[in-house]
Amino acid sequence: MAGKLYLCATPIGNLDDITLRVLNTLKEVDLIAAEDTRHSIKLLNHFEIKTPMTSYHEYNKVEKARYLVGLLKDGQNIALVTDAGTPAISDPGEELVRQCYEAGVEVTSLPGPAACITALTLSGLSTRRFCFEAFLPSDKKERQQILDTLKNETRTIIMYEAPHHLVKLLEELSETLGDRKMTLCRELTKRYEEAKQTTIAEALAWYKVNEPKGEMVLVIEGKPFSEIRKEQEAAWQELSLEEHMERYESQGIDRKEAMKLVAKDRGISKRDVYQMLLK
Ligand code: SAM
Repeated sequence: MAGKLYLCATPIGNLDDITLRVLNTLKEVDLIAAEDTRHSIKLLNHFEIKTPMTSYHEYNKVEKARYLVGLLKDGQNIALVTDAGTPAISDPGEELVRQCYEAGVEVTSLPGPAACITALTLSGLSTRRFCFEAFLPSDKKERQQILDTLKNETRTIIMYEAPHHLVKLLEELSETLGDRKMTLCRELTKRYEEAKQTTIAEALAWYKVNEPKGEMVLVIEGKPFSEIRKEQEAAWQELSLEEHMERYESQGIDRKEAMKLVAKDRGISKRDVYQMLLK
């Protein structure tokens, strides 16, 4: 019988945040795959867990996942832990999960700490709708494309960043999104935990002169719908009626429907649009 992969969430700072289920699983599995064995040994020692460990990280993830899948198919049960938080969130876990599914190996996820959710709940910003952008890619073009898509993002945005890249990210966010409310969550669950309610511009000014330190999550307010509506109205007002119709028709919308949309945008009746177009 094949074994099972257990994704085990581990604390992001405070060791008391480990769950009983994760502790039992780490004790019972045959092997623990860890992102950094030197880091995870501290956790295992703290909880007196003696299960053998093997390393599984960004730079060996493809071949190592193949090897681990082989062990799983031979009947071993394996737990995956990463440096902190929930495996597969902004770490190499995703590759192993993908390969397990390809090989028909069962996977289960044991929930626990995740920096993104902890930060969101602490942010004081809207938690109803949110998107997680993790770390922006380092490729310049791809990075700009993502920033551009965030311009009109109405959901709360969650991002990860390393302290030495924070100022660059804040500069890019300021340029692309303008000033927005933001909560900067640092050192979550640790002794000097901080959730600073600020704005992009204010944080940028502060961190240009004060060196950023510690692990951090940025939680940024989404663009208000009212602002989007105002911008759209301003854009329509610059268009003639014909140009406004053309906007919709060029998207493949038929003339009747386009007249309906134009009337709605301009706050006039469909009949008025029809009459004006006739003239
Ligand atoms: N898998 C992890 C999770 O579930 O959150 C994330 C791993 S990612 C490689 C590491 C990033 O998570 C850090 O750069 C930081 O942005 C964020 N992070 C992790 N622990 C944190 C903490 N205690 N406080 C604030 N941010 C943290």
